[in-house]
Amino acid sequence: MPGGSHQYIIGWPAKIASGRLCRVAQPGTSDADVHWLSAAVELSKRCSPSATAFSVGAVLVGADGALLTDGYSRELDPADHAEEVALAKIGLPAASGSGSVTGMAEATLYSSLEPCAARTSRPAPCADLIIASGVGRVVIAWREPPIFVPGGGAARLRAAGVAVTTLPELAHAARAVNAHLLR
Ligand SMILES: [Zn+2]
Repeated sequence: MPGGSHQYIIGWPAKIASGRLCRVAQPGTSDADVHWLSAAVELSKRCSPSATAFSVGAVLVGADGALLTDGYSRELDPADHAEEVALAKIGLPAASGSGSVTGMAEATLYSSLEPCAARTSRPAPCADLIIASGVGRVVIAWREPPIFVPGGGAARLRAAGVAVTTLPELAHAARAVNAHLLR
């Protein structure tokens, strides 16, 4: 594929095993973080439109730079949030003590929006699902504005020991997908 470093693979699981392109960027470097968070923003453009919920994309990347899973808002159900879809596709959060997915402490979840700390449609907000999954690091493009529910997901994650990084250079792109909600 031409273009190199900013190509990425969306789709799980069929494309993960198909090529090396899903291992182009190991999380933790700034280039890799921009790469994967850009992939999450691109994914958010697949969300079916909603007047009452944000469009969000999320990708989970292992320490070796492998794409583990991805998801976007309303992907499988109208109430879905991107982060919970991505985690659920690989069975997370796992039943307590099952240890079915290893390497989560070293994995990074990239989300185009700050994970929610409160929600009305499901019992658990995404911040709690991420904490329960054992993911060690979260990278976001922008903080959740208090339009539908209060923000605070980043603070909740940090309080649980999850490292949270914001990449403000991608905030504009992530917000643009939700421009109709921000007027
Ligand atoms: Zn959420």
